[in-house]
Amino acid sequence: MISEDKDKPKVLIVDDIPANIKALAVILKDDYQTLLANSGEKALEAVSSYDVDLILLDVEMPGMDGYAVLKKLKEKQSTADIPVIFVTGQNEEKDETRGLELGASDYIRKPASNPILKARIKNHIISKKRKDALEKLSIVDGLTGVANRRHFDQFLEQEWRRAVRSGLSMAVILMDIDHFKLYNDHLGHAAGDECLKKVAQTLKNTLQRSTDLLARYGGEEFVAVLPQVEHAGGATTSERLLNNIASLQIPHPLSTTSDHVTISVGCASMMPTRGSTPQPLVEAADKMLYTAKYQGRNQVKITFL
Ligand code: GH3
Ligand code: MG
Ligand code: MG
Ligand code: MG
Repeated sequence: MISEDKDKPKVLIVDDIPANIKALAVILKDDYQTLLANSGEKALEAVSSYDVDLILLDVEMPGMDGYAVLKKLKEKQSTADIPVIFVTGQNEEKDETRGLELGASDYIRKPASNPILKARIKNHIISKKRKDALEKLSIVDGLTGVANRRHFDQFLEQEWRRAVRSGLSMAVILMDIDHFKLYNDHLGHAAGDECLKKVAQTLKNTLQRSTDLLARYGGEEFVAVLPQVEHAGGATTSERLLNNIASLQIPHPLSTTSDHVTISVGCASMMPTRGSTPQPLVEAADKMLYTAKYQGRNQVKITFL
């Protein structure tokens, strides 16, 4: 169903007539991975399984037509930004207007000129890739490659609302590297940066569910958000985070806590209630982190609200 070559952008071709799909696939196969769908329903299935970069969408199809497919795509955050080009036999002004107003990126009439079609697709894909790159820059921390504080704030709000709806509890874990100022002072800022990168990646890899988030909270502080987790789950993950950093055995000659780099961990979990904000949860985790530091560092402190 999907043509080879993983580095090429993915174009989904949707048309109820196999000959139309084939004609487009032949034109595109050298430059793109092509995915094929012969109905609107199958098109929506394809976008939920693959990261599609552009969709060539037929308008008239039995069952779900092109307009209905486009509407569905625009309703979902994960698919709203995929550029859609209508490829259609209709050449009424009102049809084209309707497609563009629904959010189609472009409109091409059959029979289309191959070079023009290819050039348009290329332009739309270039701007999609640019948008993706900007989007990534805006949510990723430049040094460590994990999510940044801004993304954490947005993610927490979103997961909080989801938890209110589902009635499931969630956990926030705050982590801070022990004696990191001494590490920098002794080994230099560049070594400090390397240490931060290793710690961040290890923390991130420790989180097991795809729905968990690890973000850089600030300087040498990190935060994990665990949606849909019970108190015990937050505790187990906190211990694992602590142990996996210790296991890195990054030498820390001046630490009075250990001969290698360690972290202190504060974890709080609760069941969100309607009308509440996640602020108390973060504050509780922060309090636990402070307690872990105060009681000797290199340890986990937990509370359940
Ligand atoms: P504690 O165990 O109480 O947490 O002590 P600490 O020294 O880790 O805490 P403190 O807040 O005094 O120092 C944090 C240090 O983290 C200070 C700063 O130089 C370092 N730091 C923050 N951001 C960065 C960064 O991006 N790169 C490097 N290399 N160091 C950083
Ligand atoms: Mg058709
Ligand atoms: Mg700190
Ligand atoms: Mg610190």
